[in-house]
Amino acid sequence: MARIVMKFGGTSVADLDRIKNVARHVKREVDAGHEVAVVVSAMSGKTNELVGWVQGAPKVVGANSPFYDAREYDAVVASGEQVTSGLLAIALQAMDINARSWQGWQIPIRTDNAHGAARILEIDGSDIIKRMGEGQVAVISGFQGLGPDNRIATLGRGGSDTSAVAIAAAVKADRCDIYTDVDGVYTTDPRIVPQARRLKKIAFEEMLEMASLGAKVLQVRSVELAMVHKVRTFVRSSFEDPDAPGMGDFLNPPGTLICDEDEIVEQEVVTGIAYAKDEAQISLRRLADRPGVSAAIFGPLAESHINVDMIVQNISEDGSKTDMTFTVPSGDVDKAIKVLGENKEKIGYDVVQNESGLVKVSVIGIGMRSHAGVAATAFKALADKGINIKAITTSEIKISILIDGPYAELAVRTLHSCYGLDKN
Ligand code: ADP
Ligand code: ASP
Ligand code: MG
Repeated sequence: MARIVMKFGGTSVADLDRIKNVARHVKREVDAGHEVAVVVSAMSGKTNELVGWVQGAPKVVGANSPFYDAREYDAVVASGEQVTSGLLAIALQAMDINARSWQGWQIPIRTDNAHGAARILEIDGSDIIKRMGEGQVAVISGFQGLGPDNRIATLGRGGSDTSAVAIAAAVKADRCDIYTDVDGVYTTDPRIVPQARRLKKIAFEEMLEMASLGAKVLQVRSVELAMVHKVRTFVRSSFEDPDAPGMGDFLNPPGTLICDEDEIVEQEVVTGIAYAKDEAQISLRRLADRPGVSAAIFGPLAESHINVDMIVQNISEDGSKTDMTFTVPSGDVDKAIKVLGENKEKIGYDVVQNESGLVKVSVIGIGMRSHAGVAATAFKALADKGINIKAITTSEIKISILIDGPYAELAVRTLHSCYGLDKN
């Protein structure tokens, strides 16, 4: 007997038939004698609809920009998961399984105060463990917890993955299964590149980079938690027949295991390609080339919660003036330009230019640590397709390249092929 946390994403619980199908997956593990806790997302499209309602609702218009109260945003958007946890508990009860739904506040899952993007601080797993010991299946609403103000706080988009891994750590589960609409983690998004291959295993560090650089199959924070707490996490499909042979295999379930790099015997140089759309580039021209100028630019941007990513500073030709270029999410451009305008005197630049609709494609692999020439291969392959590179950043295990939006799919396919990742 083992303890398993099973998480089902939005498409897996999109309607009553799919919820019934999810209940069959749960029943399989219960019948095998395991203790089970389930984490559910909202039905697919529901969270977008709720977010849309909040954005469309009348708001107080402040001095600077229209704002809504993030606590009320959370009150609205957390409701999607409440519906699915109740419906799944009902579907399980109909199969004679002792099941009960739980909201984040009932456990409680304690978070910090960052409404809309809260981090889990602590989970009291004792009640869940006790109930599981009595043979009850806990069906827990993902994406939500309880802030220090005793109000519902949500964990950021895709946050149910994080709920699941955090609960698995809290109840010391033997395994956390993330069920979704693909049957594992692929070398790149299989919806963009049909040649993508499913990975049997992927190292925590690589999955962390893949998720941070745009592969939305897992929320970044869930991978961090899995790595820190050594949660054995599998990504697998909810669309396969729950009772097909091998589905209940405890040690080797179908899907992708996220694990320590030592567990991966045949490590490739490049493991995967990720991409992030809606990047924008901002350039400050003829900037004073003196100490403190970067702090003057990026300090105020950080204070305004603008996430700056790639930064390129040109070498000054005359020793006094230079150019600085960096990227931000497209949605933050207007805010960034405003902040830069307010600080123009202090920073000391001539003009600011911006371009939206860019894409960042990234090549990821732990094997890069010990191989030279990986970046050169990417640059040549992109050049051969006539794709212009606007900015580059690298780390030990990744290369990120900024390009024009319309070339995104071509670039991802090109990089996927040039490292030999295409399936035969
Ligand atoms: P869920 O609703 O189950 O949480 P998501 O839509 O958040 O599902 O994540 C699953 C999706 O992630 C897939 O449908 C796929 O298009 C996308 N995806 C992006 N990159 C990858 C990858 N490398 N491997 C698998 N899926 C990926
Ligand atoms: N329902 C939330 C979202 O759409 C959380 C999740 O699905 O993980 O972002
Ligand atoms: Mg998701």
